[in-house]
Amino acid sequence: MRKQISPRIYCSVFCSAFLLAVVVLLGSTAVLGQTNPQGQETPAATAQSQVGPSQRVQLEGELEILYQDFKAQGRLSYSLKLPDGTRVPLRFVKHPPTHLLTGDHVRANGQLSGGSLILYSGSTSLTKTTTTSNSKTTTTSTAPSSIPVPYTFGAQSTLVILVNFQDDAIEPYAVADAQNAFFVTANNFFMENSYGQTSITGTVVGWYTIPESVTTCNTSQIATDAQNAAVAAGTNLSNYTRYVYAFPQNNACGFAGSSYVGGNPSQSWINGSSLDIHVIDHELGHAFGLWHSHLDDCGTTATICSSGTVVEYGDDLDTMGVPQTASAHYNTFQKERLGWLNYGASPSIQTVQTSGTYTINPYELGGSGPNALKILKSTDPTTGAKTWYYIEARQAIGFDAFLSNSIYYTQNETTGVLFHVGTDGDGNTSDLLDMTPATPTYYGWFDPSLVANQDFQDSAAGVTFTTESVTSAGATVNVQFSGGGSTTQSPSLAVATNQTNYSPGQTVSIAATATSGGSPVANVSVSFAVTKANGSQVTGSATTGKDGVAVYKLRLKQTDPAGTYIAGAAATIKGNPDSATTEFTLQ
Ligand SMILES: [Zn+2]
Repeated sequence: MRKQISPRIYCSVFCSAFLLAVVVLLGSTAVLGQTNPQGQETPAATAQSQVGPSQRVQLEGELEILYQDFKAQGRLSYSLKLPDGTRVPLRFVKHPPTHLLTGDHVRANGQLSGGSLILYSGSTSLTKTTTTSNSKTTTTSTAPSSIPVPYTFGAQSTLVILVNFQDDAIEPYAVADAQNAFFVTANNFFMENSYGQTSITGTVVGWYTIPESVTTCNTSQIATDAQNAAVAAGTNLSNYTRYVYAFPQNNACGFAGSSYVGGNPSQSWINGSSLDIHVIDHELGHAFGLWHSHLDDCGTTATICSSGTVVEYGDDLDTMGVPQTASAHYNTFQKERLGWLNYGASPSIQTVQTSGTYTINPYELGGSGPNALKILKSTDPTTGAKTWYYIEARQAIGFDAFLSNSIYYTQNETTGVLFHVGTDGDGNTSDLLDMTPATPTYYGWFDPSLVANQDFQDSAAGVTFTTESVTSAGATVNVQFSGGGSTTQSPSLAVATNQTNYSPGQTVSIAATATSGGSPVANVSVSFAVTKANGSQVTGSATTGKDGVAVYKLRLKQTDPAGTYIAGAAATIKGNPDSATTEFTLQ
């Protein structure tokens, strides 16, 4: 498992030097955030429990996932919005949910303590519920958000409400400035990132003075007041799918920006005396459903490791990463999540499964692609979730033109290929890798690429990458799988149940079949996991026979919940990890 340290602690070591270097070299002071967080109150923290301490309860409502972006750290909080509008903070003992989005209807099982609901884990204590036309059905919480996440294409009708405070009723910038920032500059950013598929349109209203003090920070109250003021002035809120509340510098809030992750309508907050386009592009990224883009720091001798330090904002080539003045393109993992790569008319990502030499286009350019490569790194034996390498070739084009700035240009961003890793279904797993770990990490943030004629080997995954060439027209990368790869079918695992519908008391027979080159593979250890309709899980294992088949049997109890079950199997076949899932229904 990797560990995640507080970016504030991390930054206390060298971050200030790094930020100072950025400020000096770029000649700018525009970094994300203005002050350290102090005395912040999330919307969730205002909710009051109606019941006693440590009481085990089940609550249903809408999940809310809120980021607050301070200078050197992001603060992530979860809350449950109950049907009566009150909010209960959610605290997870482990694994807060990163497979869900704001607005998802969930059933939460935990213990109320001090007004918060304490839950064991995001994958076992939350159940996503969906409402169909004539009945309420329950689906498992372990099913990841679909790819792409919803509401990421077309014109995004955005209402920007400018508000100030009754004791600080200043208007630090003009309505026209906000219109230009959102509907020209940010619109250009999203149009380019989405290869022309997604735009930011809408209206700026205000300034309105709300009955709040600049010395306090209650973001949900600011939202409510801003909406009320806009409605009183004749705005029809239902014409918009994204709300942004912008207000003059409020030091009680401290953050530069804040946003829910996803949501329809989405809601974001912009704090400051001027409009920082990087902050707007970052917060809207959250609103679209993105988490942060991290750096995985494995020290000065390794690029990958089992217990690296994840630097929260460490991806210096992604607007969801390090604070900087530029609005860099979102990385491949993030764009795949949004559907802006490898979906519909978007440029493709080529999934590489056989040894060979592959060419990718400059990342910023549209067309059919491929604009990135994707290679399997590992498969979680329990969940079956796949972690991938993503390879992209950045050039100083469009919003990535900042790469021609000497601070980057003298490093290797445009003369090599970038490596990221990310895990299916988990929005908070985007990590930039440092292909030059020997250079100190804070310089390493500026030379993360694998340049021509350099190798990178992942012996656990059985793959070696060699950058062959990088030009302004794209990059060529050689990928070698151990054993030389195969031009025939790769080893793979398939899974099936003997029926699709079952009644209580019946036995489900789950068969996993391991093949390589189309032939069965014997003596493969297969891990099975069945996720029940209520999110609980049972696991087991079996070994394949001469026919390549391993069978796991599960007897369904009378007490098992009705609904959709997911049967998953994972195995490593001839050194190649693979997994598969199927569904069945308990009537
Ligand atoms: Zn953020």
